[in-house]
Formats: sequence, C-alpha cells, structure tokens
Amino acid sequence: MTRDAVELPGGIGSSLPFDPAWCLEATTGTDPAAVESQLCLSDGVVGSRAVLEEDEDPVVPPVLVAGVYEPADTVGERLMTAAPWTGLPLVEGIPVGRRVLDLRDGLLTREAGDSRGTFRSVRFACRDRPGTLVQVAEVPVALVDGDVPDGDAAPTTDRRTSPLGGGMAVATSTVRHPVVGAPGSVVAIDRIAAVVGHPRRTPGTTEAARRLHESTRIGSAGLLDGQREFWRRRWGVADVEVVGDVEATRTLRACLFHLTGSTRRRGEAAVGARGLTGPAYAGHVFWDTEAFVLPTLAAVDPAAARATLAYRLRRLDPARRRAAREGRSGARFPWESALTGEEVTPAWGVDQHGEVIPITTGEKECHITAMVAWAAWKYASWHGGWRFLEGPGRPLLVDTARYWAGRIRTDGDGRGHIDGVIGPDEYHEAVDDNTFTNLMARWNLRRAADLVQRTGECGGRRADGDRDEAADWRRSADALVDNLDPPSGRYEQFAGYDTLTPLLMADVAPPPVPADIVLGHDRVRTTQVIKQADVLMAHHLIPEGVAAGSLTANLDHYLPRTAHGSSLSPGVHAALLARAGRPVEALDLFRTAAAIDFDDLSGTEGGGLHMANLGAIWQAAVRGFAGLAASSPGNPRLSVDPCLPPSWDELRIRVRWRGTPLRLACRGDRVHLESDRPMTVVLHGEPVRVGPVGRWVG
Ligand code: BGC
Repeated sequence: MTRDAVELPGGIGSSLPFDPAWCLEATTGTDPAAVESQLCLSDGVVGSRAVLEEDEDPVVPPVLVAGVYEPADTVGERLMTAAPWTGLPLVEGIPVGRRVLDLRDGLLTREAGDSRGTFRSVRFACRDRPGTLVQVAEVPVALVDGDVPDGDAAPTTDRRTSPLGGGMAVATSTVRHPVVGAPGSVVAIDRIAAVVGHPRRTPGTTEAARRLHESTRIGSAGLLDGQREFWRRRWGVADVEVVGDVEATRTLRACLFHLTGSTRRRGEAAVGARGLTGPAYAGHVFWDTEAFVLPTLAAVDPAAARATLAYRLRRLDPARRRAAREGRSGARFPWESALTGEEVTPAWGVDQHGEVIPITTGEKECHITAMVAWAAWKYASWHGGWRFLEGPGRPLLVDTARYWAGRIRTDGDGRGHIDGVIGPDEYHEAVDDNTFTNLMARWNLRRAADLVQRTGECGGRRADGDRDEAADWRRSADALVDNLDPPSGRYEQFAGYDTLTPLLMADVAPPPVPADIVLGHDRVRTTQVIKQADVLMAHHLIPEGVAAGSLTANLDHYLPRTAHGSSLSPGVHAALLARAGRPVEALDLFRTAAAIDFDDLSGTEGGGLHMANLGAIWQAAVRGFAGLAASSPGNPRLSVDPCLPPSWDELRIRVRWRGTPLRLACRGDRVHLESDRPMTVVLHGEPVRVGPVGRWVG
C-alpha cells in the first residue's frame, strides 16, 4: 500500500485514493482501545468497534446494539453488547499494519504484512441498510491458522434477550473463495452479518437470517456500491470543509460521520454519551443529546433529530411520575436515562484514587428538563415548525414548563428561586439559583407560554385556564432571579459563587485538566474553579435569553476559571469566542476539542468517542465561525455572520434548512450562497435571496 492509495481486497472494488481530508489513520502509540473508538463503524442500529481480526478477546466489548438495554448493577441499565463478528483464524504475530478509515465511503481498511505475505481487509457498516456489516479479507494461506468455511456453509446465529424485554439477534455468513491471480496461495474471506435489535422484544434468529439472506444475495460488492451511493448523497447535503486546514476538515467530517452513525433515523434514537462507539457511561442518555448532538442532526439529518425527540416523548410517563413523586405537576426528565426512562444515574462512583464518591447528579442536575424543551424548539426552528410543536412535540414544552412552575420557590419579596441544584459545572453541588438552570427554566416557561397563547389550550390538563396558566408561567419567568449584575453584564454562577476562593486555572494546571482530581473534591468546591461552561452555556444556547452585550464580560470572567474537566467544554467555548469576534483564541480551543477525540487527549477515548464533543466541534465551526443560526419556529430565518480564523482561507458548509439543501462558503466577510430552492438568508442582518445559481454576497 502506498501513502496515496488504499487497495481493496477480494476483488470487490478498485483502490481508494488516500486523501488526508477524508481519511482517519490509526497512529502508532495511541491506546489500541482509543483507536477502536476512533475507527468505529456504526449505522444507527449497530456499532462495531475497530478490533483487529485476530483479537479474539477484546478488552472493550466491540459490538453495541442501539436502544437495547439490560439490567446492570450500580448503573441500573446498560447498553447490550453482541459477540465480535470480525474474528479470523490468523497465525500469531501478524503486525497491526496500517489502518485507515475512509470517511468518504465509510470503509475501514487494514493492510498488514511480513515475510509470510500481506493481509488485507476492508470492513463497513452499510448505512443504506442499517444492521448490515460486511468484512472482506484477503489472506495469504501462510497466515491462516485454522478452518475457514468453504462454499455455502450455513450461517451462524446468536440471540440475546434482556430481562428488560428487549433483545437482539445476529446472523453471520462466512464464505471463502480463491483470489484471482493468486490461486492456492491467497484466499478471500467474505463475511456478512445481519444484526437486529429491539428495545422491547427479542427479534427471532429467522428475522436476522432473512435480513442476512437479502444481503448475501446482493453480495459484498453490491453492498459496497450501495454504501458508496449512500455516502455520495449524504456528503452532498451534510459536509464541512475548511480550505487551508486539512486537519480541521478531516476532524469535522469525522464528527459528522460518527454523530450520524450513532443515531437511528426511524422510531426512537437513544443516543448515549458515547453513541455506539463504546460502552462508557453504559450507553446512558444525558443532556449531551439535546444540547450538543441534536443541533448537528437538526441541520444535516432531520429524521435522526426527530428520532431523538421521539425517545423523550416515549418516556414522558416516567418523567411525569417523577414530577408527581416530588409533589409537582408536569414532567421531570432523568439526568441519566436508558430504556425505562427512570433515573439511572448511579448513586456512587470510584475516582482515579480508588476513593468511593457519592454521585448526586441524578437527584440534583435538573436542567436536563429544560434541555428537552430546548431541543424540541431547536428542531422546530430548523424543520418541524409550529406544526411539530402544536402536534406531537407539544408536551415537551408544556409539561416541562409545568414542572418548573411548580419547582420555583417564591420568597417574601415575590422573587423566584430554584434551590439545591447542580448546574453544568459539577464541581459545585447543591447550589441555589444556578444561573444556567434559572435562565433555561425561564426560557422554557416563556416558550411554552408562547405556544399556548398561539394555540389557546394546553392539552386539556387545565381545561378552564390555559391562557391563565400561560400568564402564570410568564409571571414566574419574570420573577425568577438570574444573578445578573447589570453594570458589568456579568452573571454570578450561583448564589454565593463570588465569595469562594478566587483561584484561576493559571494557578492550578493548564487546562484541560480534571481539577476535582488535581485539587481534590473537597478543595475544588471551595474555589471558583469550574468544570465546564456553565453561565456561558446559556450564552451559547439562548443568546436571546441573556443580557445583550454580556458575552465578553462573562467569557473574560469564566474562561480563566474553567478547567475543561469535561469534554463538553472546549468546543462550546470555541463557538462563543468566535461569536465574540476572537477567532484565533477560538481556533485554539477548537483544536483542543479535536484532540480530545482524535488524539485521546483526556485518556478516556477507549470507552468510546464523546458524542457531545463531536457535536460541539461541529457547532464551533458552523454556529461559531460561520455564525449560522436558525431563528425560531414562528419567524423562520436562517442567518449567517462569519468570523473566520485568519489561517482558514474558506469555510464550506452544507446543511438542510426546512427540507432544502443549502451550500454556503465563507471567505473573510463574504459568503457564497446556493440553495436547491429559493429561500431567504439573513447575512450580517440583511435579507438576501438565495437560489440554485450561487453567488457571493457581503
Ligand atoms: C459532564 C456532563 C455530561 C456527562 C456525560 C460529565 O463529565 O460534566 O455535562 O453530561 O459527562 O458526557
């Protein structure tokens, strides 16, 4: 294999050009488990980590089936895993060789050779036929150690049932045939696996076998054609390219590849914190999905975004029961969620020193409830419009608002408070009036009131007073304290934060760093050091809901105090710095965010890629550097306002806005716009008509 081409084995296709803007290559020295995550193949139904063919007993379970959970100690429910499907009987001592994930076609290739010959494989998860996995290998007979089925050996099947009601079935066929031109000395081994999983029933092996039969009839080469066609179309409407920064281009494409691969496009999508790329966090669904993953999906794959909302809609009942247990109406979503929709945050964990620490996020980190409402609104702003919010999406706004209305305590002066919460900055627990939580709750109450006043009723729960209820929500929203100091424009992160020891990260360690470990849990909570964007998360998510012009004051105050102890942090700061007109600092943090998932900077990548970070990286480019934003369901406008780092010659973005593909390119202040159907885009505050004939404006 040369540096500029990757040859496909088994005669199933031509060689692939090795293009650094499209190819992720495993680097020597990286933790093998991290490489397995980086080069993982997933299709929304199954995730297949990049284990080596000869690895019979991978350290990290290599196959994850979407949405199928089983009971587990401590973590309540965990994502089910399937047996590896990629194993081949190879002699010992084959070098790892070169491994490349070609993002353009979604192909993972390996070439490994020594004096005994050269082993080659290509593997893919068929994105046009989710649940279908293909591997074709070319193996010199000198490297085969054991039997490979010849001809039409019967498929093998596997079936697993979860006591929670769901399950999976897998059928695999392996066929060997001689390689043309090398008869007798090299064999090609073709393997196709069909995986079917269901959250609430166990599919039969016959279902998997039928799917397998359909795929084997098409054959590996035909499946490869389908895969290529899928990706050709997908990249046509969902790409990001940075002219002048090939590494940034590759990173952004890898983010899109893994984000969309971790999300089902039909029914419900339970997107865990690591997607389908690894088992860390047991596949639990956090606010990562709503705040970080959904914005990308809404812009590039609306069906997948809708499926993440369906996941929450189908778990409204447990969320309502939880609110009722607290003596409140409405719905409170769990901080960590899996199949049942009950809270599955573990009650304790063990830190790096082996110390057992209580975990209180499940009880106290309640801003997730507003995030679900925010995600519904965001989706509606990009695609569904009022129709979605007035229809199926309605309870996501209304029930969440009802929860906040009951959660707010009103003091003797008529001011509203939310007590005893954890904000995004998890270093400070049980704080009162966390600004982010209060601002999001206020936003939630107001948007639900907008919806109710538009349609006049709230879903029949208060038949007599719906408009009255909406008016109550507005009053509660107005009365809620937000800790803003108007002269400086700075928000205090929570009541009493400013009285803590004013420690800066410059006095601790260069971020990103787990400051709770470095300083100790007890000490960190006495200081102003914070884990991740907290006040600033509100500036990122609801810029219209914070004081005008307050971004810089809060960036300047909180950034030096931020440890980036969570992977969710650097990308969001990059987006905000770009919005604040500081693209060089923004690029620095954009690169930090990229290193977390593509250089294993935090050392946690072996358990899977951080979906939220991938979303934040995309947001840094699209929301931050290009300034692309969708207004609201009631006033559907897409605006663009670029602020590129000087080292980026041009930023090219493809998204879909209300069903219409839009291509834009930003160069300095100027923007080239082109859309399949006529639409209006707001550029630097001015409306611009856009159509199929592209033009530069600005
Ligand atoms: C972060 C949370 C995040 C969770 C899962 C934590 O370390 O602080 O904000 O939701 O990881 O990614």
